[in-house]
Amino acid sequence: MSITISDQAHAGIHGLHTYVPGKPIEDLKRELGLSSIVKLASNENPFGTAPAVKRALAAFARDGAGDLHRYPDGNGFALKQKLAARHDIEMSRITLGNGSNDVLELTARVFLGPGKNAVFSQYAFAVYPIVARAVNAETRVVPALGAEADMPYGHDLDGFLDHIDDNTGVVFIASPNNPTGTWLAPDAIESFMDAVPKGVVVVLDEAYLEYQADSERPNSRAWLERYPNLIVTRTFSKIYGMAGLRVGYALSSAEVADLINRVRQPFNVNMVAMHCAEAALADDDFVVYSTETNAVQRASLAQELEARGLSCLPSQANFITFDCGRESTPLFDAMLREGVIVRPLASYEMPEHLRVTVGSETENQIFLSALDTVLAAQ
Ligand SMILES: *Cc1c(COP(=O)(O)O)cnc(C)c1O
Repeated sequence: MSITISDQAHAGIHGLHTYVPGKPIEDLKRELGLSSIVKLASNENPFGTAPAVKRALAAFARDGAGDLHRYPDGNGFALKQKLAARHDIEMSRITLGNGSNDVLELTARVFLGPGKNAVFSQYAFAVYPIVARAVNAETRVVPALGAEADMPYGHDLDGFLDHIDDNTGVVFIASPNNPTGTWLAPDAIESFMDAVPKGVVVVLDEAYLEYQADSERPNSRAWLERYPNLIVTRTFSKIYGMAGLRVGYALSSAEVADLINRVRQPFNVNMVAMHCAEAALADDDFVVYSTETNAVQRASLAQELEARGLSCLPSQANFITFDCGRESTPLFDAMLREGVIVRPLASYEMPEHLRVTVGSETENQIFLSALDTVLAAQ
């Protein structure tokens, strides 16, 4: 009997498929010979990168590029110092990642493995099963709230508790969640933290926190003092428009940060990205502008979709997921031919939903008219 290369991959790998990202603009241009494309597929900031980051990048190219033959600071001292001040937390409690996805993976490598399980919601972020199965852990998917619930397709935290057992290593919660846009009330998260066994690590993924209304936003920083098993993850990809640079981070207890840092690649965040992230933290104007514009555009986009009979999930993020009432992948394909890239959700087991990033007012109008064209042709 000969063993194939594929047989050598561990069982967790066989349960995985390669993550399919939002279609790149250049791919579509090439395929369709289109010159102008609107991409609303990956929850990127429609206003680009924070101006302070662009200035920092230009200054780095002028004055700092001579250092690129050096390794970056593996401890990320300068960026951690700024984050520590921002969050009023000790530097020893911050872990930097090559995007927050990196931190999710590091967490899985420390707290999951064969015999352990990861608990997360149905319709949650696709990266949770990837990082869990990659280390051969079991994945336990908690059925989401029903379509008729107050928070349709949202996380059912009571259901989470039923899925946790002695072998649970990590619980992943996203609020707001991608791809649904749904969120959890702060007191619901707090009650959950009180109920979860203290040895279970809970990752609270706050990639879209900045897009939440003030009244809905949890003070997860305060919870870190009470729950040493809590890891809060944040990213520079969304609100700061730095998805291409890859910087994210985790806040946790010093004990958890120490464990995670043991498996971190020594130079996981590059020099340019750290430099830009430092500059981003000073650009409050861009954050406020992005947040406020998103709230206005999100409301008007939802209204337009509802007016077309397309029911929207509640969203506190920078995207809206809506029910097309029919298979959504053909609509996605037809919209591509109109030069508009959105996200079909069949891979999330939501085959009749599309997810659209809230764009600029102009982009949203182009999206809506493409949608009208496509729907009229059905
Ligand atoms: C976009 C997103 C992130 C951010 O990932 P990065 O690696 O920081 O770019 C994290 N979690 C969720 C749920 C997201 O949608």
